[in-house]
Amino acid sequence: MSDGPTLARLQAAELRDNRDLDAVIVGAGFSGMYQLHLLRDRLGLKARVLERGNGVGGTWYWNRYPGARCDSESHSYSYYFSDALLQEWEWSERYPQQPEIVRYLNFAADKLDLKRDIQLDTTVTAARYDEAANRWRVETESGETFTAKYLITAVGCLSSANVPDIPGRDRFQGKWYHTGQWPHEGVDLGGKRVGQVGTGSTGIQAVPVIAAEAGHLTVFQRTANYSIPAQNGPLSSEFKAWAKKNADEIRRTMYASTNGHPFLMAERNVFDVSAEERRAIYEKAWQVGGLRFRAVFQDLLLDKAANDTAAEFLKSKIREIVTDPQKAEALSDIDHPFATKRPPIDTGYFEAFNRDNVSLVNLRKTPIIEITEKGIRTSEKEYELDIIVFATGFDAMTGSLLKLGIVGRDGVPLSTAWEAGPRTYLGLQVAGFPNMFTITGPGSPSVLCNMPVAIEQHVEWVTNCIERMEEKGVERIEPDEQAVSDWVDHVNDTANATLLPQAGHSWYLGANVPGKPRVFMPYAGGMARYRGICDGIAASGYEGFVMDGETAGSPIAAAVNISG
Ligand code: NAP
Repeated sequence: MSDGPTLARLQAAELRDNRDLDAVIVGAGFSGMYQLHLLRDRLGLKARVLERGNGVGGTWYWNRYPGARCDSESHSYSYYFSDALLQEWEWSERYPQQPEIVRYLNFAADKLDLKRDIQLDTTVTAARYDEAANRWRVETESGETFTAKYLITAVGCLSSANVPDIPGRDRFQGKWYHTGQWPHEGVDLGGKRVGQVGTGSTGIQAVPVIAAEAGHLTVFQRTANYSIPAQNGPLSSEFKAWAKKNADEIRRTMYASTNGHPFLMAERNVFDVSAEERRAIYEKAWQVGGLRFRAVFQDLLLDKAANDTAAEFLKSKIREIVTDPQKAEALSDIDHPFATKRPPIDTGYFEAFNRDNVSLVNLRKTPIIEITEKGIRTSEKEYELDIIVFATGFDAMTGSLLKLGIVGRDGVPLSTAWEAGPRTYLGLQVAGFPNMFTITGPGSPSVLCNMPVAIEQHVEWVTNCIERMEEKGVERIEPDEQAVSDWVDHVNDTANATLLPQAGHSWYLGANVPGKPRVFMPYAGGMARYRGICDGIAASGYEGFVMDGETAGSPIAAAVNISG
């Protein structure tokens, strides 16, 4: 018998016996893994990741729906902190598919020897701050309790599935699935009558793949959406070599850009050029494909008239592609400015509606009334289905945090502190929740940014902050109430200076979840600016934070230009 299984059992037993830690990190995606690496391997702290899934990967562990693929270009969807990882890993396509991303994160976890401190199959059910001990007590579904000075949430922004509460859902005799909880063994769609609810980024990726397999696909569309062709394809060996050789340059570009992508916003406005030139620019961007389209003019999210030109171009493309005039009309009848909801990118989405086995139901005209034993009934008719796919998104940004059962000082639950919407300082900390850090929390650029770039910045900032605390013997850090209020105002002002809040039904505002407070959650001031603000605050000695009851830092608002 080999030593392998015995050793693994011993390691697992040791892991479980050792529950008094410096830091508990919740979640083993991009952020939790990097946070573990820095706390354990740079600061020498005792840290453990608790992960609900049976493997690493975070959002990519769960989102296994047909067509799941990242919309960031693969050469930028990587850890950039490690040259060794960058040089060794090779992506196969312009946009990485879900299984490849999970393979990448396993590769990184193995390379950095992280798995021995990641406890899988462990769902956190409560995390309570014990003021007397200045420790977080973290409880899990299986009854374990961990204590730690620091609690770091790395639960992702889009992890809490939003399954709509449509009357009758439980009496449906077929099968239903949410895309974010897709069965790991896959779903046999062959020849089946499939109904898909939802046409966001997920639904738009799924439609062409489901259509190719299903007997018939009925798409139930509530809000028509823009989409830009991804123009995906295999990466050439020349490109792969170029990306490795130019990693420093790519990193510099991502850091300088508004959205953390490996391209910069063009320094021109829509009306700087003639209508003819504009059309040519949009056409070229359409051919290049992907999120780069959004960067061809700098005022698309600032000026409605400018945005209208892009919106009209994209709607005209839908009408060109979709041959059935009724479908084309429903698909191009878009009610919000371009990119005010996260712009999807696709591989054959509109083309799929030209297939004989794909039909479209416009829920604006004929809303869903109920789910029946046989399928979905709208105000017009009943659609008989074998499978319903809910591509209906997430209780974004706050949902996964609130599910952790976090209770701060004086027994105040996070759900109470955030009753009127999330309130953070920099998206990193919450007043009344000492030593808790929220990686890519609400109030930070997070989902408006290429996620690994936002994650690395947060993880590094948190690590530096903890390092400073440990060096100086600081026991507690939390933000000052006034700093939180000022930051929340700044987040709102920044969003209101753009067209983003004009998509009234967007998940950025929490509007997709019934009863959720409407607050624009991500920071819209741009990643580069945000990084500067965070660096300035750290350099000032942590202005806006309270350390061991003392106001920290020197006033630097002017230097970091928060109000400007
Ligand atoms: P989403 O953008 O929130 O879209 C949900 C869709 O479901 C919308 O079309 C929505 O309609 C519809 N819907 C929700 N509830 C409904 C109901 N009760 N009845 C009918 N329709 C309903 O969710 P998502 O597509 O999963 O995308 C969420 C985010 O995940 C994206 O914006 C993106 O940031 C991220 N994502 C990234 C990737 C990637 O990079 N590869 C891929 C997928 C997703 P309304 O618009 O009318 O609410």
